[in-house]
Amino acid sequence: MALGEFALIDHFFKSIGNGEDVLVGIGDDAAILKPTAGKQLVTAIDTLVAGVHFPAEADSASIASRCLRVNLSDFAAMGATPKWFTLALTLPESDEQWLEGFARGLAGDAATYACALVGGDTTRGPLTISIAMFGEVDAGKGLLRSGARAGDAVYVTGPLGGAAAALELLGGTGKSLTPMQQQLLHAYYFPEPRLAAGQALLDIASSAIDISDGLLADAGHIAGQSGAAIELEWQAIPLAEPLKDYPLEKAMRLALTGGDDYELCFTVPGNRTAALQRLLETGVVKATRIGRVAPGSGVRCIGEDSQTITVKTGGYRHF
Ligand code: ADP
Ligand code: MG
Repeated sequence: MALGEFALIDHFFKSIGNGEDVLVGIGDDAAILKPTAGKQLVTAIDTLVAGVHFPAEADSASIASRCLRVNLSDFAAMGATPKWFTLALTLPESDEQWLEGFARGLAGDAATYACALVGGDTTRGPLTISIAMFGEVDAGKGLLRSGARAGDAVYVTGPLGGAAAALELLGGTGKSLTPMQQQLLHAYYFPEPRLAAGQALLDIASSAIDISDGLLADAGHIAGQSGAAIELEWQAIPLAEPLKDYPLEKAMRLALTGGDDYELCFTVPGNRTAALQRLLETGVVKATRIGRVAPGSGVRCIGEDSQTITVKTGGYRHF
């Protein structure tokens, strides 16, 4: 039996929408939320289209997780705290089994990351999921792409290339996967939004971005918006565990140009290095130094012999 639109919303989504700061949630014409005094409102939206951002036959709980987490990652990059989200769901049909999995994935992550589903829209059409996230940051403190200055050090919060390697495998669903391949697929569907790191870096980092389009492309956004150059040390870039079995050239290409890892890339001025060091020692932030900000423009990759390495293909672009 296919549920009607309103029954479907009540049955699958209403319970994900609770919270003290939700005054009116799902069920009215709009949500009414209670912002915290002294904070600034932060919002971001991401759309995932079947066949473009995930294979149409992918498990619906994984799709829900990925969609929520890519938004949360944008919040991590701003040092913001996520609080509320809305969901625009376009479905080819009202498939209860699919919806049950989707709602389960969404509810699990909404609880983990303490954010409430406060409204949305449900329409019929090709499978498309759009989540808009709302949250807060201390007034004037949000981490921007534009604050890097020559002399700052560049860091990344974790190994790169795992999700790009997974994308190469995604075509082959149905085939049995080795444990290593399973691990790669997990990295793709369940990126860990670095929220705690982003928030801890609020008074420390001069700029930050989450790596959705590849390190070169995303470091390029920091460079471009900061009016500086970024020099990455090729041998310092941490590779995702499974890539260690790949030929070095290919592993580096995936780590530098593959998107979807959702680690943070951030810069730290010299006078904040000691504060960062304390966060690294206590484990609040995990990060590896991968280069520096320099005068000029663009992103350069420097090899062991101090030669500049040219890496072809930038990040993924839709247009
Ligand atoms: P309206 O016609 O006034 O725009 P709708 O009939 O589209 O309202 O939605 C009714 C209620 O259900 C609203 O509170 C809306 O936010 C919520 N809603 C609709 N679709 C979803 C969804 N996919 N997830 C969460 N809430 C939803
Ligand atoms: Mg209305």
